[in-house]
Amino acid sequence: MQCRIGCGACCIAPSISSAIPFHSFGKPAAVRCLHLDNENKCSIFLQSCRPLVCSGFKATEDACGSTKEEAMAILSEWEILTCITQAVPKMNDRN
Ligand code: SF4
Ligand code: SF4
Repeated sequence: MQCRIGCGACCIAPSISSAIPFHSFGKPAAVRCLHLDNENKCSIFLQSCRPLVCSGFKATEDACGSTKEEAMAILSEWEILTCITQAVPKMNDRN
């Protein structure tokens, strides 16, 4: 699918662990990237400092749904599921 212009959900809902200008240690989930402009477009879209994780993310119906609100809900749920998946092996390491 084509990215919905003016959506920006993938620049808010997920955490990003890569360094981004003004987000030296990446950004937490549910925090708006400082490069998302007032029209919900990436202000560093064509710049080399844009993280690979951003340029690698492609719009799909599974991830983006049919509205920004759906995308926020889906990507937030994926964020939680990813956190749980990463946390369980760490908890098992304690045994
Ligand atoms: S969530 Fe999907 S539709 Fe929305 S800006 Fe990101 S890629 Fe585009
Ligand atoms: S750098 Fe651009 S594409 Fe990446 S999260 Fe920020 S606004 Fe979105």
